[in-house]
Amino acid sequence: MEAQFSRRDVLSMGTISVLAGLAGTARAGEYAVRRMIAHPKIGFADAFEDGKYKLPPLPYSYSALEPFYHEQILRIHHTKHHAGYVKGLNSTLEKLKTARDMGDYGSIKALSRDLAFYGSGHVLHCLFWHSIKPGGSTMPPALAETMAHSFGSVDNAQRQFAAAAKVVEASGWAVLAYEPVGEKLLILQAEKHQNLAFWTVTPLLVCDVWEHAYYLQYENDRGAWVDNFMKLANWQFAFERLAEAKQITLTMM
Ligand code: MN
Repeated sequence: MEAQFSRRDVLSMGTISVLAGLAGTARAGEYAVRRMIAHPKIGFADAFEDGKYKLPPLPYSYSALEPFYHEQILRIHHTKHHAGYVKGLNSTLEKLKTARDMGDYGSIKALSRDLAFYGSGHVLHCLFWHSIKPGGSTMPPALAETMAHSFGSVDNAQRQFAAAAKVVEASGWAVLAYEPVGEKLLILQAEKHQNLAFWTVTPLLVCDVWEHAYYLQYENDRGAWVDNFMKLANWQFAFERLAEAKQITLTMM
């Protein structure tokens, strides 16, 4: 599809940077990678259909990663583990609908946790299958440039990624991510995978319920703080964020 600049791209980079990017400077490479990494739908073409999340097929055969990843473990990982996240995600969404229909939020803590657990499990596995490929791949020059910009060098980036992955506490993930505020790549650890809610979502509106956010005024009555937060909520801001997020998704398809 023809590349288009979203409003956010133009706003955040400035017209001159965009033109410089088009002229083929180093900025062009960075811009291309920025679009590629921010693209929320890479690897997700088969992950959702007819109103349900679904298990996408692998982009290679079960034996394609031999000898580095055996056929048996890949098959179980995909057909049992990843499939379990998809099943759990769909059933959690049904339970949440029932809760809303009944006006019964007695299980909302567990259901919200399940939503993040199964949702992030599904999303991260979709990304994982595309994060490896038979024989590996060479580094696209545009990505190398962005890595050098963010980490000093490609070598640094790869060493930091491997080091971070090796020491994730208990179960989890290492994640190469794009941070749009500073326009740079970051390497993160995710313990388990629900602790950052539901990967791939774009935050639209947030309420801080750490004690520092309310204790001085509300003491232990977090509920009163949340009720008042709802009275202060800036839905116009949320709508603008949504429009921005949708525009980015559409223009990057
Ligand atoms: Mn897994």
